[in-house]
Amino acid sequence: MTNTPVCVVGLGLIGGSLMRAAHAAGREVFGYNRSIEAVQAARADGFDATEHIDEALTRAADSEALIVLAVPVPALRPMLERIRKAAPDCPLTDVTSVKSCVADEVRAVGLLERFVGGHPMAGTAQSGWAAGDRRLFDGAPWVVSVDDHVDPHVWAMVMRLALDCGAVVVPARSDEHDAAAATISHLPHLLAEALAATAGEVPLAFALAAGSFRDGTRVAATAPDLVRAMCEANADQVLPVLDRTIDLLARARSALSAQKPLTDLVEAGHAARVRYERFGRPEIVTTAVGADNWRAELAAAGRAGGVIRSALPVLDSRE
Ligand code: NAD
Repeated sequence: MTNTPVCVVGLGLIGGSLMRAAHAAGREVFGYNRSIEAVQAARADGFDATEHIDEALTRAADSEALIVLAVPVPALRPMLERIRKAAPDCPLTDVTSVKSCVADEVRAVGLLERFVGGHPMAGTAQSGWAAGDRRLFDGAPWVVSVDDHVDPHVWAMVMRLALDCGAVVVPARSDEHDAAAATISHLPHLLAEALAATAGEVPLAFALAAGSFRDGTRVAATAPDLVRAMCEANADQVLPVLDRTIDLLARARSALSAQKPLTDLVEAGHAARVRYERFGRPEIVTTAVGADNWRAELAAAGRAGGVIRSALPVLDSRE
């Protein structure tokens, strides 16, 4: 089971890093990319890549490979349609930064039964094959969805792939992932864009910019299409946290304009950051995948900060 071949669809930053990491872990891994330049670059680096999607998917079907969707949200539907035609029985996962909308897309094409969503919480502001790094996922949380429909055997395959890539697995329901990702990923992207745009309008700002500006705007260097794809696809979850932030900033603005102290915002922000630095990650060891109530048990453990560092046992019987 650990030797399940892996078929990566999309060899950009994340798919290309996954291909390198899975290969380094001894997996058979092959992949598709739409641009011949990236395919040639991957081949030149010694990897097994093709620009023909049907060739990759036929091989996936023949070898019962785990297919990993590593394309942006707008490209999911056409890729899923091809998978439905060429490899409908393959186990399927993804790396997309939003989870509920991907599950909806997968359901719409009739592939939900073999699908377990994933999201490695790692990345850089770079794109494309050349930006990939086999160590990108080292120690990073990799969310593996424990939605009601998920099959324990496919779930275990995705868990093992994430562990082989050097990540720790965080089990989470898609809706809870999306609410959390809105807060710790999509909101920071919007704040970084707003901060960069604001500074861009102030003479001398770039000349003085140092660590605070660099750290606060790092993710604004991400390709705009990717930022739009993840924020727009998770609008329902982004809106309430954006409202909350606007409210906190509006209160800070009122305090400043009334020459009152900024105590509320600054103390609350500082306390939350300190809590984050102390946040523990207990290892999840007791759940058997496929046992009674395993999905709810793992979701609760993930919610409490728990992570899987080595593969959990899998029960043979299917629920
Ligand atoms: P990337 O731009 O580096 O790679 C995107 C890949 O998708 C490329 O191989 C590109 O050729 C392919 N692609 C794009 N449109 C396509 C289409 N219409 N048809 C076929 N292929 C198409 O981007 P990335 O950062 O690797 O992002 C890929 C996925 O990973 C996205 O879903 C993103 O949400 C997710 N993700 C990104 C990060 C990050 O930090 N960049 C982190 C975690 C997850």
